[in-house]
Amino acid sequence: MRILLVEDEPTLAAQLQAALGAAGYAVDRADNGQDAWFLGGTEPYDAIVLDLGLPVLDGLSVLRRWRAEGVGAPVLILTARDRWEEKVTGIDAGADDYLTKPFHVEELLARLRALIRRASGLADPVLRCGPLALDTRTAQLTLEEAPVNLTAQELRLLSYLMHHRGRAVSRGELTEHLYAQDFERESNTIEVFVARLRRKIPAQLIETVRGLGYRLSCPDDAGHGRSG
Ligand code: CA
Repeated sequence: MRILLVEDEPTLAAQLQAALGAAGYAVDRADNGQDAWFLGGTEPYDAIVLDLGLPVLDGLSVLRRWRAEGVGAPVLILTARDRWEEKVTGIDAGADDYLTKPFHVEELLARLRALIRRASGLADPVLRCGPLALDTRTAQLTLEEAPVNLTAQELRLLSYLMHHRGRAVSRGELTEHLYAQDFERESNTIEVFVARLRRKIPAQLIETVRGLGYRLSCPDDAGHGRSG
């Protein structure tokens, strides 16, 4: 999952970037509204954290432009404590959630998890696929109740596939959602991680769809007519 973090206070931005990275997200950062508008309009983020008080172009204008242009990523706005009316305006402008500064990083992470789940139509924080259960709160995967240790990369990959289960996902899409913009992407990386993941979980759960990419195929989806 890839996040755009828009925050102009360097200390807070660095702290949030570290926390998001530790939680397993690929993170791109913008520190002004102009850059934020550009990145959000061109890169496929799974969620966006948007501070409203920004230089060059304010956060509300950025948000309105994104929504007018059809950018549908879930957006969580950060507002100053004494600006309650910003929350109302922000939600009316297309924000999905808000946090008032100062906040606990854990609350930001929980709200982001919920936004990303809801964007995939999932209500339960534990994502299940046959014998697999991925608890998005703790980033712990279990296979028939037994813990499975995944590297950060494997976890990102599986988490993305689980959020988009039943749908063929291309290597390009995976690359775009698993790596930050400045990450040096290598074309065969996704195949390597898929191969490693298949050794840790029942391999047939990750189908190769010829010419398209990969599909997480869960036994319990059969007959549900779920095409993603
Ligand atoms: Ca600010």
